[in-house]
Amino acid sequence: MVTVDVILPLAIADIYTYSVPEGMLCPPVGVRVLVPLARKTITGVVYRQHLDDSTASGQIHVALRDIIEVLDEQPIVLPSQLSLWRWMADYYLCTLGEVMAAALPARLLDNDYIARTEVYISLHPRFTDVEQLQPIFNSLHRAPKQLKLLEYFLDLSDAFDNAPHPVDQRQLIEQSGESTAVLRTLIEKNILCASHEVVSRIPSYDTDIESAHPLTPQQQRAAEEIDTGFADAKVCLLHGVTSSGKTEVYIHLIRQMLDQGKQVLYLVPEIALTTQLTDRLKRVFGKQLGVYHSRFSDMERVEIYKDLLTSQEAKVILSARSGVFLPFSHLGLVIVDEEHDSSYKQQDPAPRYHARSVAVVMAKAAAANVLLGTATPAIETYYNAKNSKYRLVEMHERYAGLSLPHITMVDLKQQYHRKEMYEHFSDPLVERMREQLALGKQIIIFQNRRGYAPYISCRHCGFVPKCGNCDVSLTYHKRARSLVCHYCGHTISAPDCCPNCGGEWHEFGVGTERVEDEVIGIFPGARVARMDLDTTRNKKSHQRLINTFARHEVDILIGTQMVTKGLHFNDVSLVAVLNADTMMQSPDFRSYERAFQMLEQVAGRAGRTGAQGEVVIQSFQPDNPLYTYLQNHDYSVFYAEQVKERRMFRFPPFYRLIVLTLKHRDYSRLDTAARELSQRLQAVFGNRCSGVIIPSVSRVQNMHIRTIRLRVETAASFAQAKSLVMQHVQLVQSLPNCKGVIVQPDVDPM
Ligand code: ADP
Ligand code: ZN
Repeated sequence: MVTVDVILPLAIADIYTYSVPEGMLCPPVGVRVLVPLARKTITGVVYRQHLDDSTASGQIHVALRDIIEVLDEQPIVLPSQLSLWRWMADYYLCTLGEVMAAALPARLLDNDYIARTEVYISLHPRFTDVEQLQPIFNSLHRAPKQLKLLEYFLDLSDAFDNAPHPVDQRQLIEQSGESTAVLRTLIEKNILCASHEVVSRIPSYDTDIESAHPLTPQQQRAAEEIDTGFADAKVCLLHGVTSSGKTEVYIHLIRQMLDQGKQVLYLVPEIALTTQLTDRLKRVFGKQLGVYHSRFSDMERVEIYKDLLTSQEAKVILSARSGVFLPFSHLGLVIVDEEHDSSYKQQDPAPRYHARSVAVVMAKAAAANVLLGTATPAIETYYNAKNSKYRLVEMHERYAGLSLPHITMVDLKQQYHRKEMYEHFSDPLVERMREQLALGKQIIIFQNRRGYAPYISCRHCGFVPKCGNCDVSLTYHKRARSLVCHYCGHTISAPDCCPNCGGEWHEFGVGTERVEDEVIGIFPGARVARMDLDTTRNKKSHQRLINTFARHEVDILIGTQMVTKGLHFNDVSLVAVLNADTMMQSPDFRSYERAFQMLEQVAGRAGRTGAQGEVVIQSFQPDNPLYTYLQNHDYSVFYAEQVKERRMFRFPPFYRLIVLTLKHRDYSRLDTAARELSQRLQAVFGNRCSGVIIPSVSRVQNMHIRTIRLRVETAASFAQAKSLVMQHVQLVQSLPNCKGVIVQPDVDPM
């Protein structure tokens, strides 16, 4: 009997074995097959063939069931991808199916036959211009659902950007949240129309190709050092201060690769935050650039995936972390830009992978090079570079001889004591802002919390509104007049007064909305904008906001960590941080590292052209050494300090960590399981295993949470340790009083 092992997108078993029915050719490795599972049909990918009667290696169901259908003629997953999946499943302690579900665009694994016939929606041909829609808008005034759907359609179809294209019906329905009935009405009214036509959606960038800038001597030297590093088969770390022109070095190296006919993967932390970079790369690489976008519809992702699979052309793909899953066949270089950024780590669901680590593994298998770039390296990365595992390449000077920004500390204790504060703005900061506005400059204010106030409390009885599902207080959003749980999204409208006693609310803490109100209060004439998750949910709004600020139609931009990342604005002369201390107060061992990175990055937005930029940091503890390192832009002293602590307190890079997160609705069952597991692991690992840890948010979406942390010496066998851990996890999960408790392993947690 001929059988095949199939990967199914499930977390239960790694591999499932099916028989190939008489008369069906044995499907090759990497093609999709439709198979029965219990009473369902499900799409999987062939992992291995067993052409004779030799034993199949997967989980065998009592009676082996037949494959129903082979869906592809050619493999859609390459052998190199399958071995990367295998590595990821083993390293990150999950199933091949979980990796596959993350790796393939959802549409490729869709089991819904009906959905496979795609329907595209476009504007009815009687409209030749969006302007002609004005009477329609007026007529839909009383049909808000149709109006909303139409607006979503126009946005998704890029109708206002003069590049209208059809929109996938499912995407439209999903994103607008309206029903197909509403859509049908619009079609019956001849406003929209539906078709089955497949239109290529990969935007092609026909813009004039611009040549790359000639490198400066410093950049030239860096590029040469990187080349030697690559020749020695080393991962290179390009540590270049903000605005040293790392992008120019990347462009130079990408060009070299493309000229050799190789593919390049260019990873960035969050693709949505990189419109400026995308534009720059489009101008240099034209059609050779592909953008793999998490905000793209799945259809567009499928197209890029398939294009890469079938085309042999040299390409550079710009992508967020999921780019590591693309089917590269002749990869030459992987660039991990802003390698320190924690969004390279996938938190949920499994695989909980770090794209930087995966990039190193995939590049090694393909004999390709890896370049990590940042102004603020992760401690682990810099350690590797200092200990010759990686090649360290440095650029100390900003482009065009500009100075790094000057950082001034403002002592909040003193300011409050002397009553020299206007709400959350100290007098010296207000003074600086006034000065810069008068000079016609722009200002960025960084406050890493969205909403108006992190929580509100009754002035009379002290009542604090909390989420019904999670163990957290609700954040007050003034604009939306609502209280929102930032963990599960639960939203209620904000009551005018305390529901217990009718008392007045007191708003605690500061979010970006409140900062915006205060700024408007202080500078009534200034043009103010806010950039956070709430103002950038829409596909285009983020880009619009950046463009508006870049065109200097806004004077003051207030934002969360979104404003710290990679942006380049000519007229920004001042950056302010309202309260920097909060970043260091989290109990995480990385909190100082994160604070340093975030502050150095946001400071790096100031003074990128012209005069030296200014940064004002308000703090209750201005003497904290971290601020001194920042003021001197001295990463290496900061690093030395951190590494000492990491060694002393047994953290990475000296130890590897695994965090086990246990979850259950029933508090006592969870508690029993957590104690069982921690005791058993302590028996094996001694004090490398923690006791049961109650996390600061110990209930989310009605699931109680406990964690256990394990540290393993870097020199020890990590694989062996992990296998022991998983044995005990399974053992505990099978105990009668622990059944049903979820255990999620997180390897190299962030
Ligand atoms: P980084 O990524 O190191 O923060 P960028 O690559 O964004 O720095 O460069 C900062 C600015 O300097 C950009 O506006 C860029 O166009 C300009 N720049 C850097 N290098 C050059 C160069 N060799 N020629 C012309 N402009 C450059
Ligand atoms: Zn909640």
